[in-house]
Amino acid sequence: MAEPATTAFGPLIDTHAHLDDPRMARDLGGVLSRAREAGVTQVVAIGTTADSSRETVALAGAHRGLFAAIGIQPNHVAEAQPGDWERIVDLVTAPKVVAIGETGLDRYWDRSPFPLQQDLFDRHLALAFEHDLPVVIHCRQCEADIITQLERLGRPVSGILHSFTGNWDDAQAFLALGLHLSFAGMVTFRNESLDPLREVAARMPIDRLLVETDSPYLSPHPFRGKTNEPARVALTCGRIAELRGMEPVALAVQTTSNAARLFGIEGADPI
Ligand SMILES: [Zn+2]
Repeated sequence: MAEPATTAFGPLIDTHAHLDDPRMARDLGGVLSRAREAGVTQVVAIGTTADSSRETVALAGAHRGLFAAIGIQPNHVAEAQPGDWERIVDLVTAPKVVAIGETGLDRYWDRSPFPLQQDLFDRHLALAFEHDLPVVIHCRQCEADIITQLERLGRPVSGILHSFTGNWDDAQAFLALGLHLSFAGMVTFRNESLDPLREVAARMPIDRLLVETDSPYLSPHPFRGKTNEPARVALTCGRIAELRGMEPVALAVQTTSNAARLFGIEGADPI
């Protein structure tokens, strides 16, 4: 059983970090100790390719408090080699694999043919259902496409719309499908254009709300543009707490309990 966090501001679960990225992997000890000081108790390391997924499983195996999600991210599906999907399937039963992904759709980068993205998204969803695991969904300028593809399944979907950036109507559609919404650093940025995103964070049902860093990307204010790391999930949680008129620690406790339940890691050892 985990010790309760002793910091003023925990416990926190960073539900989405690319810990195998060299920017973090080369100083993982420092990254994890800063996270611990910030009240972070667990981190889910997210795979983006077959190699990266194997790496997240290795990291989870080597460190307390780290867990793995495995998948081929939509911007990487075109470069996937024959056999890469089978490697993902083989990793599902590895210890500490708690989710399938990241998967999803991306029209912004245009790096992979869209029908191929949709095919891989369907395979990830089927794998998640088969193993009763939550799915981690990446969505860039594809809210309607993802809603259509998920509705076609005709069943609720356990999982996360990660780094949510949609509007209130998108949020309602994703929530109706059964998904949780996870917020990254954008909610802290100063741009007025992000006020609708803040409105979703302020008003959505608290039991479906999650926080993440998407490290090394999307570093929150006042570190915008710098290499992000899991410790900074506290800044995002703090800003959402402010938007909701809550104490940061109360939101930390709630989002951590949401994440632990979704990933099936209640009572897990801390980092
Ligand atoms: Zn990601």
